[in-house]
Amino acid sequence: MILKYNGKNLSGGINVTKSWEEIVKVKAVDKESVLLGKQSDDGNWRYKMQEKLKVKADQEITIEKTGTNATFHQMTTRQTGIVNDWEKALAFLEASFLEAEPVSVHSSFRLKIWQIMSGQAKESLKLNWQQICFPDGPQLAILASWLRSSKHTVIITGPSTNQKKSTEEKILSVDAFNNKNKEFHNYYSKKIKELNRERYASILDDISVLEKEGHIQSIITEYTNGFHQDSGSKNVYELHGSLKKCHCHFCGRTVHQRVFLDNRNCPDCGGNVRPSVVLLSEKLPIETWKKAAIELRKADLVIVLDTSLQMNPSNKLLGYTNGKTVFLQTEKNESLPKNDLTIVGDVSNNIKLLTQIMSPNTIEV
Ligand SMILES: [Zn+2]
Repeated sequence: MILKYNGKNLSGGINVTKSWEEIVKVKAVDKESVLLGKQSDDGNWRYKMQEKLKVKADQEITIEKTGTNATFHQMTTRQTGIVNDWEKALAFLEASFLEAEPVSVHSSFRLKIWQIMSGQAKESLKLNWQQICFPDGPQLAILASWLRSSKHTVIITGPSTNQKKSTEEKILSVDAFNNKNKEFHNYYSKKIKELNRERYASILDDISVLEKEGHIQSIITEYTNGFHQDSGSKNVYELHGSLKKCHCHFCGRTVHQRVFLDNRNCPDCGGNVRPSVVLLSEKLPIETWKKAAIELRKADLVIVLDTSLQMNPSNKLLGYTNGKTVFLQTEKNESLPKNDLTIVGDVSNNIKLLTQIMSPNTIEV
């Protein structure tokens, strides 16, 4: 017996309220196969295969398949065949998907599926797989062609409008620093200690690869987390400063981050120290801004990721360039500045595909 409370399985295990989702679906003349997946509360997926087999023209039964050695059962026998990891799910795919025509791919699995099907699917079906795995492919192909012909390309990164509303991207004011220093200290100490690159690792690594391979020359960022540098990017301009550096608010002396985290004062003047980020009502660091402007003047191509560059003074950045401007946005935004190309879709997926298109072992889109 399974005990349930508010949809939770009390005997331990996954949340039973989540339903199976179609990860990838294919069809052949005599059957339709689908790899189903269910995400548990810890974020891990479990998989199983389901096949609908046409026995006779007027009769249809559903069978389920277990393991690599396909054994067929009528639904009534209910062999579930659930596996816990992707490697095992791959065995299902390899057994029956490579020859069949793709129908749909779950948006979170497009890259994973493409990595398999680009190498292993039947040659005549690869284009179908590509179109299903990369619905934004044709636009990315245009961007890739501009990227190839550009001599100087700059990427601008920053939080999207939605991210700006979240507490993670909240910026405190000089007023808070002066009058509510304890709260200010608590907020930024927590923020510094909780910096975690892993959540964004894929897109950061891809940007770093594009720079290493010489496709982009610099990165201008509104982020203060230092993740671009942590990921190996070299030429980074941090418009809003950096959470990784600290200084004395009064004499300007640079201090180690430890001094701020330990809540100690400036060793020179005794003043309060703070992270070297731009606070509300402060001006952006002028030297960084000037260097960013030089980069943009040189640019033949500027690619803006997620940020919509609508806030002052970021809304002036594109005014420095005569190059082409491209916006990659996860969500549709009606009020973007004028630009040459806007691609709406999962930005990390699209940057991944762009990196693959630009890499020496290229795929064609
Ligand atoms: Zn000082």
